[in-house]
Amino acid sequence: MKGNSGLDKLWSVLKSGKKIALFLDYDGTLVAIRKDPSKCVLPGHMRSLLRRLAASERLYPIIMSGRSLRDVRKMAGVRGICYAGNHGFDIACPDVRYTHPAAFNARPRIIAVKRLLKKAVGGIKGARIEDKLFSISLHYRSVEKKDVPFVLRGFQEASRPFVEKKILSPQKGKKVLELVPSAKWNKGLAALWLLRRLGKGFYPVYIGDDLTDETAFRALRNKGLTLKVGSYVKTSARYSVETPGDVGRLLGRALIY
Ligand SMILES: [Mg+2]
Repeated sequence: MKGNSGLDKLWSVLKSGKKIALFLDYDGTLVAIRKDPSKCVLPGHMRSLLRRLAASERLYPIIMSGRSLRDVRKMAGVRGICYAGNHGFDIACPDVRYTHPAAFNARPRIIAVKRLLKKAVGGIKGARIEDKLFSISLHYRSVEKKDVPFVLRGFQEASRPFVEKKILSPQKGKKVLELVPSAKWNKGLAALWLLRRLGKGFYPVYIGDDLTDETAFRALRNKGLTLKVGSYVKTSARYSVETPGDVGRLLGRALIY
């Protein structure tokens, strides 16, 4: 962690005794990104850290991921905490269960677009289509450089009819293209919604690494503390750390206060 005097803000909030809603992205934030996303199981020390965070009376961890709810719960493997899957479209907390109506409406279209995507890019080596129930991803991290333009074009062609009719919206992440339900909803709005549900007195902290986290960085920028993992030039987050390892150290330190 370097040059993060901004984190002093976090320590002072903790010292003040305020309760903290701790929004945590999963891939690239709690675990390092790997070529095969199915291998990104939460390491044991991070799992026990999350359990300890959840057990503390003042910290309320919420994992927010682009993965399906079922997938992110399985990968993180911590029970009794709040999860928001599909970029906030599908939320399950110990006392709240919410699926955005647009997600249910989008499901038949996800099935249809999956068929088209298979036709368009199924033959390209390394391209992987992931049906996430209420959204769909096309991963191209393992695609050879020369084939990437074909993947991008295939995605565009397959998704065009759904995007034009404003049924599904395209979204870009790290080496992944996604289609999510068209709705005024994203990680940022889901985080605000959860924050309201938690009630007064919760100070929001949001930690994330990807483009989809920017909606939350913007939504929470003036309400709480926003932290970007890794570096790219344009981010709305106020502070940054370098790696998921730094996030682990930061969360460990938060427990001490
Ligand atoms: Mg991420």
